[in-house]
Amino acid sequence: MPLTENTTDLLFDREDARNPLAILSQIYGYSAFRGKQAAVVDRVVSGGDAVVLFPTGAGKSLCFQIPALCRDGVGIVISPLIALMRDQVEALKQLGIRAAALNSSLTREEFVHVRQAIAGGDLKLLYVTPERVVTPGFREMIGNARIALFAIDEAHCVSQWGHDFRPEYRELGQLAEQYPGVPRIALTATADPHTRDDIIDRLALRSAEVFTTSFDRPNIAYEIVERDQPRQQLLRFLSRHKGSSGIVYCLSRAKVEDTAEWLNGQGIRALAYHAGMERHVRDANQDAFLKEEDLCLVATVAFGMGIDKPNVRYVAHLDLPGSVEAYYQETGRAGRDGLPSEVWMAYGMADVIQRRRMIDEAGSADDVKRVERAKLNALLAICETPGCRRQAILAHFGETHQGGCGNCDTCLKPVETWDGTEAAIKALAAVYRTGERFGTGHLIDVLIGTVNEKTTRFGHVNMPVFGAGKDIPSKTWQSVYRQLLAAGFVSVDHDAFGALRLEPEARAVFKREREVRFRKDRPTTGKASRSASPSSASAKSALQGSDMELFEALRAARTAIAKELSVPPYVVFPDTTLVAFATERPRSREALLGISGVGQSKLERYGDAFLQVIRAHQP
Ligand code: ADP
Ligand code: ZN
Repeated sequence: MPLTENTTDLLFDREDARNPLAILSQIYGYSAFRGKQAAVVDRVVSGGDAVVLFPTGAGKSLCFQIPALCRDGVGIVISPLIALMRDQVEALKQLGIRAAALNSSLTREEFVHVRQAIAGGDLKLLYVTPERVVTPGFREMIGNARIALFAIDEAHCVSQWGHDFRPEYRELGQLAEQYPGVPRIALTATADPHTRDDIIDRLALRSAEVFTTSFDRPNIAYEIVERDQPRQQLLRFLSRHKGSSGIVYCLSRAKVEDTAEWLNGQGIRALAYHAGMERHVRDANQDAFLKEEDLCLVATVAFGMGIDKPNVRYVAHLDLPGSVEAYYQETGRAGRDGLPSEVWMAYGMADVIQRRRMIDEAGSADDVKRVERAKLNALLAICETPGCRRQAILAHFGETHQGGCGNCDTCLKPVETWDGTEAAIKALAAVYRTGERFGTGHLIDVLIGTVNEKTTRFGHVNMPVFGAGKDIPSKTWQSVYRQLLAAGFVSVDHDAFGALRLEPEARAVFKREREVRFRKDRPTTGKASRSASPSSASAKSALQGSDMELFEALRAARTAIAKELSVPPYVVFPDTTLVAFATERPRSREALLGISGVGQSKLERYGDAFLQVIRAHQP
């Protein structure tokens, strides 16, 4: 484990080594800071604390890496996932920055090596887990060495309110007293006020400056479809993403395994990931996902935190998440590199029933249940909105967007709505007249007047409501009940086999005090649904003809290098850099340096290899 592979000292005179902009351009190969990065860097370089709430892909890593390089001593990065530290450290080494991870997988010898590097002031960044950083052993190891800063990554883990609560994070508040005078910077992509307050409170960051930016992810296209034949729908979605990597989320482990197996049978390379798998298989699958370019990872929510693969091109949900926060976090894993990416969800009535049931049966306190229900309802409103999805999502996070984003399904193909007041009254009447004892299947039979054993046995054939809805197809009635359920006019009684019951809100509909509008569901098969989808997204979509050929050749060269080094390809260069190589065709080392993502260290390491590929592809 060579820790001393370092170019920063050689390349810099002393002045530049403390200048954030010089570091940005010479080490990272980027010409300018993005958004509020510069402000955060300034704050931390000057010794202040910071709380950084930026969406995924905004560039949080530079916010602590550059200050660590500017300041004396080692920057300690607290990160919850050992499995991912290795890639992060590798990425830093590729940039010529001396970095290491301290975890239980180190040999005694490696451990001593790290300790010596710290003592000798030779290490710029050290990754550790939250449970380790507060131990006396760690303090002892640090000894009298200088600490440049503490960066607390995935800081939302401190909050019980959020979805990734880690009790160990609570202990990190101690760092303030244990290491007075060392700046601390907490970072997360979770923005809600509750989580933010928890971070400030629990991590003792009351004097920190809080940095926030818009949570919009303009390169992500949103699409939510009514579930009809989910596997076929998924297959059609995946057919737009041949040759790229993405994630398919399912609720249960069994469904993860079934779906992965089925996809493989359909010729799509897919691997499974869930918490019930043997650790080594799970880790191997995660590793394959990071390193390979065309893999579909089918996973439960156990997968994803800390995954910083920049070219995840799609995220699909086969089941509804529990909240807008979870949906946004999961979909947010797409398109970290800023290139066009698509997220897609199939959603249906069964989701509403299942999620509500999960809340009811969770055994939590009543006020917790109330909050969970409200969170679910907020997501349902986004699923059923006829308006711009992006606008609805951002509104949930307290952000105003003018709507009409042009990059979500409802904007690309406006949803028709219809006055459903009459239909709603009939649907609710069917529930009421039959004694709130039946599920939607039977209720629809009653509405459209199906004479069968059940409608006859219960005498429903003789009721006025029988056949009152025969002018509307049964598929539309399903859509009506789903929307009535999502809007809270009816609820499902789980103890009575999914019987629908009326909620107090239904009264106003019966009394015609309230107009009801429904979304017209789209046909889910054939061309119609495809044309409603955002255009195919990929890094390559911007490339044509010979540029595309060159891009593929560059990609092959990158894969070969990455394989040899046993690192993910994006650690060598991200797709965005390869796209720029393919379109700008730099012919000299100087010209290479002008491309975003090429710094001194990577120029030395790979410049010639890529120049060769470019030269061999004269158009
Ligand atoms: P986050 O942690 O906020 O999700 P990352 O730190 O992983 O985001 O950065 C996302 C991508 O953007 C990375 O590929 C990173 O190298 C790139 N990036 C970050 N800052 C800049 C910048 N100022 N200019 C160009 N690219 C940047
Ligand atoms: Zn939109």
